[in-house]
Amino acid sequence: MADQIVLRNVTKIFTTKTLGDITAVDNFNINVHEGECFSFLGPSGCGKSTTLRMIAGFEDLTAGEIELCGKLVSSSSKKLYIPPEERGLGMVFQAFAVWPHLTVFDNVAFPLSIKRVNKTEIRQRVAEALKHTSLTGLEDVYPGELSGGQQQRIALARAIVTNPKVMLLDEPLSNLDPKLRETMRFEIKALQKKFGFTIIFVTHDQSEAMAISDRMMVCDMGKIMQIDTPENLYNHPNSRFVHNFLGESTFIKVTVKGGKVYPKGSNQELKINIPKGVTGDMVVATRPNEIELTTSSEEGFRTHIEKRIFLTDRTEYLVPVGEQMVKIQTPHRIRFNAQDECYVKFIEPIWYPVDDEKTEAERNKRQLI
Ligand code: ADP
Repeated sequence: MADQIVLRNVTKIFTTKTLGDITAVDNFNINVHEGECFSFLGPSGCGKSTTLRMIAGFEDLTAGEIELCGKLVSSSSKKLYIPPEERGLGMVFQAFAVWPHLTVFDNVAFPLSIKRVNKTEIRQRVAEALKHTSLTGLEDVYPGELSGGQQQRIALARAIVTNPKVMLLDEPLSNLDPKLRETMRFEIKALQKKFGFTIIFVTHDQSEAMAISDRMMVCDMGKIMQIDTPENLYNHPNSRFVHNFLGESTFIKVTVKGGKVYPKGSNQELKINIPKGVTGDMVVATRPNEIELTTSSEEGFRTHIEKRIFLTDRTEYLVPVGEQMVKIQTPHRIRFNAQDECYVKFIEPIWYPVDDEKTEAERNKRQLI
């Protein structure tokens, strides 16, 4: 499949008065394939929007280059910047960026009007865009009279009316209520199927990204941490950060001594496979629903139930493992009471070095600006 969006060694450094130079985007290399839905995911300040703005052409590059549909559109070394309006992109941003003083028809027609497309063609194309966003019949209405979901549909209609090959969506659903978000997700995917455009989707919401994406990039503090399919990222996170960011995580500090694993603060062995060459202090990671809770001592770590919490779709148990409290989620039929003796078994945990995480202080500094 052809690569439709290519970032080569893209770096963006902002110089600020208070905190000096901030590397918002550090040497990004990304290839987005034609027709793919590719998400940028990561906590606030990780560089998602800056990357999107560079692709759109609103921001220049400190280093590197960007290619769209086989054409170089930004290059710091060649001093080349194609302006946003000539990049052939459709864009939808977080705030409802529709013009309140224009009718639905005029909002959607706007990108065609400025290109001086003739009136008959404008009418046809706007009608088509409105049909696909369920806005037919609302042509003469002003956005203020419509719901949040409908307003965001106007923005979508305006983005598809020019028939773009690439669509940039920056947190387009974050102002909508949860039910509507889900509906709009399906609508975006349906539009993509119909028109065949490539999507870059920016969000800090992991489940939204997982539901909509073919592949995702997870970044942290201006660095790409991992790019893969949602499933691979969830099952094979390459760092503690990615593990923690996608879904719930349980991290247990352990020490590996003489070929055995001991949780911090315990002399009882934790019977899990040790990867080759691993010794000393480490962290093993798992998910609350990947820990088996049993009454059988076989291969299990002996402990007790500290707390039982009955939730709607699962039961949650807090169980001490060494000096740490571990969260376990089970179906309701697995039934223990507080203070019961139990055994826990970790199913295929992943190993990480102890110093794999950036400090909170480092992360907070980036969010101050
Ligand atoms: P995200 O979209 O992931 O929340 P951003 O791309 O907005 O992150 O920001 C990345 C980093 O760059 C942050 O530390 C932010 O404070 C900094 N930054 C973004 N825009 C500017 C700017 N115009 N001037 C200075 N720093 C900026």
